[in-house]
Amino acid sequence: MIARRNIIPVFVPHLGCPNNCVFCNQNRISGEKVSATPETVGKTILEGIAKIPENSNIELAFYGGSFTAIPVEEQNELLDAALPFLHDGRIESLRLSTRPDAIDEEILDRLKTYGVRTIELGAQSMCDEVLYLSGRGHTAMRTEKSACLIKEHGFELILQMMTGLPGDTRERTIETARKIIALKPNGVRIYPTVIVENTPLCDMWREGAYKEHTVEEAVDWCAAVLPLFEEAEITVIRLGLNPTEELSGGAAFGGAYHPALGELVKSRLLLNKARALLSENAHDVNVVLHVNASDVSAMTGQKRSNIRTLCDEFKLKALKVSSYEIQKGKVILG
Ligand code: SF4
Repeated sequence: MIARRNIIPVFVPHLGCPNNCVFCNQNRISGEKVSATPETVGKTILEGIAKIPENSNIELAFYGGSFTAIPVEEQNELLDAALPFLHDGRIESLRLSTRPDAIDEEILDRLKTYGVRTIELGAQSMCDEVLYLSGRGHTAMRTEKSACLIKEHGFELILQMMTGLPGDTRERTIETARKIIALKPNGVRIYPTVIVENTPLCDMWREGAYKEHTVEEAVDWCAAVLPLFEEAEITVIRLGLNPTEELSGGAAFGGAYHPALGELVKSRLLLNKARALLSENAHDVNVVLHVNASDVSAMTGQKRSNIRTLCDEFKLKALKVSSYEIQKGKVILG
């Protein structure tokens, strides 16, 4: 488990990236067209601090590129720009995201001297065929080695995985989740694949070489892996791309883009739990399901979709969802 922190993001879109992963266009995904520079880092921190309540834990994060693959001098200049804020306590820690093949002992030792606490590694898939078809340029074994090295050096490790990349299947996604769990990260981000404008994936999709990972498919696959992370007590700190004006305004051409994807998955998980309950227990044609007050809407589903599904599947006359003093995520028969 990791303590809640307020992150001030500093974007370095595509800096350091040695190749073009087929799904990626950081300028469209993050909405940031230009990279941060040592001169802009301080300004971004001050603007970020102004929006965060006092006495919060603040972490500065370099996102959107392969930070440790940027030429070392440039990395150091960006980190140097953050140091005064770290030293006077206005920010508590530093975080960065990078690629598995841009990690080694020397890099980690240098990051330690700068006080970097958290490293986010883009694993994306633990299946080599999926990595190859997605143009990642590294193997799953490389991710395993780098993840272990990061932990051995005492950093917090966040692993990012994607669902629905070229060559991916539901089984491969589940296998990826299991292999990621085995690496014992401190947290995980799950990004179902979105077809973003001006990417090789968008071309592949137009040419029929890639089948879209629909919202429905993403909800089903994520609902299959989320309980695995929960069981292993690994926090999923993000599910789905952050909705941005850029993506919602048309840059997301297709795929699993939904501004409330996490809510849809939560709703599916509760539906699956209710299904299991109704299958395993004798019940009347009028059923009441008790859930935590914060789960009533997700249990009901968008436009009452879960109620309709359960009534159809179990030939119910009526199904009521009622709030009850139980743990979030639990469902019991009334
Ligand atoms: S996914 Fe990561 S490594 Fe690949 S192009 Fe995007 S930012 Fe670079």
